[in-house]
Amino acid sequence: MDIRRVGVIGDPVAHSLSPVFQQAAFDATGIPARYERWHTIAAELPARIAGLCEADCFGANVTVPHKVAVAALVDSLSETARRIGAVNTVINQDGRLLGDNTDLYGFMRSLLTARPGVERDRILIIGAGGAARAVVAAVAEIGVAGITVANRSPERATHMLADLHVDGAEVIPLADWDLMGAIRDHSVIVNATSIGWNDDQMVLAPELLDAVDPHGLIADLTYRDTPLLVQARARGIAIMDGLPMLVHQGARSFELWTGLDAPIDIMMAAAERTRET
Ligand code: NDP
Repeated sequence: MDIRRVGVIGDPVAHSLSPVFQQAAFDATGIPARYERWHTIAAELPARIAGLCEADCFGANVTVPHKVAVAALVDSLSETARRIGAVNTVINQDGRLLGDNTDLYGFMRSLLTARPGVERDRILIIGAGGAARAVVAAVAEIGVAGITVANRSPERATHMLADLHVDGAEVIPLADWDLMGAIRDHSVIVNATSIGWNDDQMVLAPELLDAVDPHGLIADLTYRDTPLLVQARARGIAIMDGLPMLVHQGARSFELWTGLDAPIDIMMAAAERTRET
């Protein structure tokens, strides 16, 4: 069988862990495929997506900043991609391109594993960008006890909830006073903002963490040990970083491309090994 192509489309993609754990999955299942980094600037995006129709291509993952733009460039969208308004996986179905979103699945799988019984929790989500959309859609689908969204631009959070048809959720500004009340009232806190990649930035002031439920969970979608997670761990609070979500979304993409069960343990181990180096 000829070698098939698949890759991650974004700008930048040099830092992406996807090639490592996706290649590990193809190698472990004996599928002759090469998973590549396809650095793509916005002007090149239509041509890049058109190229996914070729017979030797499984499709692609899509990352920052193209997840929304790609939704308009594929032939059809899954119900999930339409609802979230973003595509992170393109599947080549005999020359026609389906856009799907596996971030919702990835977050849901990791949250259900890290927090059994999460449906009884009230969840505070910080952020209203693409990743927050997948998180809100996931916790709404789980049917949790309450949802509050805090964002620097609260109007963006209000639009997000309306787009996702999530009723009964609250929106608050990203201000210490409002956050203090919300933290006391919620047992799971999710950082879905892009604050976390720099060690000198924290989405919550450290003193706010003193109000967190000691039996609660703090999740950060950043797949590294962020200052937020370090501070939470120091207070004995359970934490979840973004790696399980990343690997589970990728595992679902692998299944959509190949029709096979993803070797999740192998993918997780490969991602963890690379992150540590
Ligand atoms: P977006 O650019 O779509 O959204 C960014 C969010 O961060 C917005 O809510 C924005 O607020 C907020 N934000 C950015 N800078 C600041 C700041 N200085 N102060 C306060 N708020 C700020 O990004 P994504 O949603 O795509 O990604 C968010 C994070 O999630 C990234 O770190 C990304 O790496 C991670 N991610 C992880 C995944 C995984 O599998 N683990 C999957 C997808 C993303 P505002 O609306 O006011 O601008």
